[in-house]
Amino acid sequence: MSSKIRIAVLGATGSIGKSSLDIISRDTEKFEVVLLASRSNSDTLDELSKQYPNAVCVSAQKDGKKKLLSSIAESKPDITINGISGAAGLEPSIAAINAGSNLALANKETIVMAGKYVLQLAKEKNTNIIPVDSEHSAIFHLLKRENIVHEFSRNEHEKNKISEIILTASGGPFRNYSLEKLRNVTVQDALCHPTWNMGQKITIDSASMANKGLEIIEACLFFNMLPEKIKVAIHPQSIVHSMIRLCNGVIYAQMSKPDMRHPIHDAIYWPLTAPSSLEPVDFDNLTLEFSKPDTEKFPMLRLAREAAKNGALFPCAYNAANEIAVAAFMENKIGFLDIPRITESVLQEDFSGDCMNLETILNADAKARLIGLSLF
Ligand code: NAD
Ligand code: MG
Repeated sequence: MSSKIRIAVLGATGSIGKSSLDIISRDTEKFEVVLLASRSNSDTLDELSKQYPNAVCVSAQKDGKKKLLSSIAESKPDITINGISGAAGLEPSIAAINAGSNLALANKETIVMAGKYVLQLAKEKNTNIIPVDSEHSAIFHLLKRENIVHEFSRNEHEKNKISEIILTASGGPFRNYSLEKLRNVTVQDALCHPTWNMGQKITIDSASMANKGLEIIEACLFFNMLPEKIKVAIHPQSIVHSMIRLCNGVIYAQMSKPDMRHPIHDAIYWPLTAPSSLEPVDFDNLTLEFSKPDTEKFPMLRLAREAAKNGALFPCAYNAANEIAVAAFMENKIGFLDIPRITESVLQEDFSGDCMNLETILNADAKARLIGLSLF
């Protein structure tokens, strides 16, 4: 019997998937890849199946969603890295938790759509969800060092120790654009991210700041915090990944180079702080800047806060509306500023409902998409 840690990598051909395999390949004594999954049976997945002959390879398009979900259970992973993009990541996350696997979660949509449901499920199954999204990874590890993990934050005394969570945001490529200039930006313009190299959907979301909107919701749900206690600071260098302010006024920040391999490393070694050979931050010539985000120019931030305040299935609707709007923008069917317009209109509908029930969650996702599509 091998005593290696069994890892499933979902979204293995994507940006998070590739970074995950890079980290895993640095410690083959400790980790073994048992499952690789992606959407299509691309050349990349074929290539990976040769590199990892012992891993089961599943393509959601060719083998179907059912096969993907059953493979997660059958491969018995100790850790599942979920780097699937979009709402498609939710059910695989649930399958991993149900299989008793710890979840290293890059797929923020899992928490935005169904945070309360999946956190409760993880509690019941006695598994851990460790965030990989760099901001939430930073907060998670900062809170852990203060001995405040999210389970404890339900305890009032512990919860009151944190005054504020400060999410940093690069501001994206349009940080300094006027509203007029934003109207005419192209898909190519939006795909040029200044600091992070990521998949296309999240890159567009960074340009509209919907990514930070999703992350405000993700932080509220994951750390059980009110939206007004989650601040956003524009920080173009992407070195400080997030901060917590405690009740004594002191701020703790987490810093590293903008490289997703850091939070992936921290998630798969968790709860250990393990040595890493990734390049450290060099302070000899470093300038860090912070400023206030412009919610007039980037209404996706305001809409996310409203969705987080309304709770219930509003966060799920925010994600779904944005997802179909971004897909349409990428196909040149709508303009950049139609993304917040469509999202705002969708959120005017009723998304009260049971956020602890998977069926109502998936129905809310479908309903928001349908309404959104009628607004193009
Ligand atoms: P990506 O587009 O580069 O890769 C997505 C991966 O998911 C691909 O392997 C694709 O084949 C797979 N996939 C898509 N639909 C699927 C389906 N239905 N079934 C199975 N596999 C499917 O995306 P990415 O940038 O790696 O982002 C992945 C997730 O991580 C997103 O939720 C994103 O918000 C989050 N995230 C990414 C970064 C980053 O730096 N890339 C940072 C923080 C969070
Ligand atoms: Mg992030």
